[in-house]
Amino acid sequence: MKKTTRDCFCALCRSPRKLRYSRYLTTLHYGQIMVLALVFTAAAFPFFGWKGVGSLPLIWALFESIHKSLYRKDLTCPYCGFDPKWYKKDVKFARQKVEEFLKQNPDSPVLRRVESSSSENSSSRSN
Ligand SMILES: [Zn+2]
Repeated sequence: MKKTTRDCFCALCRSPRKLRYSRYLTTLHYGQIMVLALVFTAAAFPFFGWKGVGSLPLIWALFESIHKSLYRKDLTCPYCGFDPKWYKKDVKFARQKVEEFLKQNPDSPVLRRVESSSSENSSSRSN
């Protein structure tokens, strides 16, 4: 089987990452879309006839939207919540998202790394 993961590093916390999804649909996906459209056309032939071929763009759009949401989810760093897509659009919002993520995940390895290096001045930590 083809290796579909891509190695990279998080731009914010430098953690090694593996991206499972590419930005665009692969040839395999297009094959699956064709097969699904053919199966749908064959199954719905008694009802729609050749109009069942019209399901192709629908299935394509469905694949595209699902793939895009998986890609977006994959892109977000699981350690610090950094989303490069948001960073490109709105830096302040991306920063806010990272802060929210770290608030919700206090035992993130990113925070532990910071705490261990600055354990001396931990008296100023607020609750
Ligand atoms: Zn990160």
